[in-house]
Amino acid sequence: MIAEVIVDVAAHPIDRPFDYVVPERFRPLIEPGMRVKVPFGPRKVLGFVTGTKSESDMQQSKLKPIHELMDLVPVLNKEMLQLADWMKDETLCFEIDALQVMIPSALRAKYEKRFVLTGELTELAEPLQPYFQRKPFLRAQDAVELFGLLKTELDKGTITAETDISQKTEVKKARMVTIESSLEKLEAIEIRANARQQLKLMEFMKSHAGSTIESADLQKQSGTTLQTVTALLDKGAGTLQVTETYRSPESLADIKEKAPLSLTLEQQTAFAAVRDALGTSKTFLLHGVTGSGKTEIYLQTIDRVLKEGEEAVMLVPEISLTPQMTLRFKERFGDQVAVLHSGLSAGEKYDEWRRIQRGEVKVAVGARSAVFAPFRNLGLIILDEEHESSYKQDDAPRYHARDVALWRSRYYNCPVILGSATPSLESYARAQKGVYELLTLESRAKNQPLPEVRIVDMREELRNGNRSMFSVELAEAIREKLEKKEQIVLFLNKRGYSSFVLCRDCGTVGECPHCDISLTYHRSKEHMKCHYCGFEAQVPDICPECGSEHIRFFGTGTQKVEEEIAKLFPGARTLRMDVDTTRQKGAHERILTAFGEGKADILLGTQMIAKGLDFPNITLVGVLSADTTLHLPDFRASEKTFQLLTQVSGRAGRDVLPGTVYVQSYTPEHYAITLAKNQNYEPFYTQEMTTRRQNGYPPYFYVVNIQFTHEDLMTAGDYADQTVRFLQNNLSPGTVIIGPSASLVARVNDRYRYQCLIKYKKEPRLTETLHQLIRIHRAEWIKRGATLSIDKNPSTV
Ligand code: ADP
Ligand code: ZN
Ligand code: ZN
Repeated sequence: MIAEVIVDVAAHPIDRPFDYVVPERFRPLIEPGMRVKVPFGPRKVLGFVTGTKSESDMQQSKLKPIHELMDLVPVLNKEMLQLADWMKDETLCFEIDALQVMIPSALRAKYEKRFVLTGELTELAEPLQPYFQRKPFLRAQDAVELFGLLKTELDKGTITAETDISQKTEVKKARMVTIESSLEKLEAIEIRANARQQLKLMEFMKSHAGSTIESADLQKQSGTTLQTVTALLDKGAGTLQVTETYRSPESLADIKEKAPLSLTLEQQTAFAAVRDALGTSKTFLLHGVTGSGKTEIYLQTIDRVLKEGEEAVMLVPEISLTPQMTLRFKERFGDQVAVLHSGLSAGEKYDEWRRIQRGEVKVAVGARSAVFAPFRNLGLIILDEEHESSYKQDDAPRYHARDVALWRSRYYNCPVILGSATPSLESYARAQKGVYELLTLESRAKNQPLPEVRIVDMREELRNGNRSMFSVELAEAIREKLEKKEQIVLFLNKRGYSSFVLCRDCGTVGECPHCDISLTYHRSKEHMKCHYCGFEAQVPDICPECGSEHIRFFGTGTQKVEEEIAKLFPGARTLRMDVDTTRQKGAHERILTAFGEGKADILLGTQMIAKGLDFPNITLVGVLSADTTLHLPDFRASEKTFQLLTQVSGRAGRDVLPGTVYVQSYTPEHYAITLAKNQNYEPFYTQEMTTRRQNGYPPYFYVVNIQFTHEDLMTAGDYADQTVRFLQNNLSPGTVIIGPSASLVARVNDRYRYQCLIKYKKEPRLTETLHQLIRIHRAEWIKRGATLSIDKNPSTV
């Protein structure tokens, strides 16, 4: 028997399965989707079995045997293996990257090889019993001997066996003893007169007949030992059940169930359209203004799906969105919900993933990678805020969650809902063409008016001598709301503002010696750090260039604003939410909860607070500078600005109290700003599409970004030049190739970076050409120390 294995050696020039002999002892168990350890050159590496066969094209004597089986049940099912094949072609990644991204990180690392067994252990086949009486663990070397027997038990469902990722920290498990309930039976058990411990335990058991008690407690309360308990259980005094409790990140204890709301007419129409499409692979674009009740539609559609006995995946862009969203899901679906997001520890993620894999939950709520939730009866996939760039992964595999969702929707014949108040141009264009069905919600669910948006011309403020970051109008409004005890959200776009160190005499900025970027100043640790390569340095006492002692620190934008708030509005209670204040686990949630409970007057933050917040008492939103995203060197700059302004504005006046939004800008006449004022999506779409067509960008053209790096500047440039020539020779004349040019940050980690851009409408030769490029890279350039990365449909260019 031969197994085809994809090995975890991403730098290997050949990306294909390798054949390995399956040793006799693994044969009963081995299946595609299991992880194995195999010899590869001088090393032993992790691999995934993708298939088995009886013969290899290779000479039998050249084949090496599989060293170890890492799983007793496959971690990847048939669907996932197919999905990986597709991803590899679609995103031009290594197959191993595609496989790895689908399993929780805990299973990717090299954990101790041990299996945790759960189930009716006392009903196990005799030879297996001794292994589990005391500890429900099975060491790898023991497992080898017992595979055949184990297989039978696993198939029968008496036990489950999963790879132990607990390492030193024990998986939380409970050994529960259920004492025989019939006194008659207990009395019939023979115990030798001199076995005093056993007699003692028997007395206890008789007085607790029929009850279930944790083994450790049983020992403690009866004053006996594990040996004694085991001995009596062997004689039939009770049964042992090992259960595993999950490291559940949130408890359901305080969550009250909430009934569905009765839908508005608009919601009803949208809901009915999706409901009628269940069981088909239709894609919907749900375009609804902020607060129009999209989430309620998601909840009710999922409820339908669950009633059909199927499962649902609900994707949200970022962790900060998850607390409130998760709460709404748990209120509706209780413990049928698993939550997968980046704020969980590796162990917690693994637990949530297993609950999905075992079919113990029916709904998965999570960020990008939750799109791989290992359900087997998927009935619906939802991407909320579908326009968010966080749905695209920036490194290999460079997949977009939307594309994966559409693939799975075809596999399972289930619909996809893409929801947004500001759909991506790509999706809206597809809806216009009829590829997606457009569903529109024009009014807010509780009929609240959209907030009044006022655009403040900051140039005017300057002319009037106001140098503060708060315009007179906004400052006035803040004072008024503070007096009324209503809540305020202040938004500062983090990009364009980062903290740095500057010499006031010569203007030298602390720069990373390895990258062409300034170092970021961290006040908490009094040091400077490079966000690209991780380089750290102490803040110098004197300027290394001119010797001046006048070193100045610029705090992060939000820190600066916080200080100014304290000056302008003494007594205002402010909560700051940015990368610095949310580093700790659970910090997002704590800040949001505190704000929701009215423990602060002002919530100040970066993009993190732009979305998802749903608090009734927020009546004022201030955008301190609308311009920062607008001037990014990115063809999506206007789109992102429009989205951001719309999202932020949507935080105000969501309940009874009406809201006002102040948008401060130095370019108040820009269409992305003026059209966001009334959440005018359609005119924005029309205007922006014109710009895109003129400049040849998506959705009119597709874009592929190719990046080259090398530690030598000339070599990097040479490689880029050669590639561009190669592309010109191989792609159609209608395809545009721009570059090569130095990347925005031209050097990172002492490596020089060049890039080029392919723009095309229809390019039948694209896939083959890119694959050929990868082959050339692997054959020639890897050896010379170059890297190549190909990003189809990049989120920014
Ligand atoms: P969106 O997801 O479009 O931003 P939400 O679903 O969060 O909108 O709804 C906004 C607010 O309106 C929430 O407080 C929600 O509870 C409420 N809401 C939604 N649908 C209804 C409804 N049919 N009746 C009453 N309130 C609703
Ligand atoms: Zn200086
Ligand atoms: Zn650096």
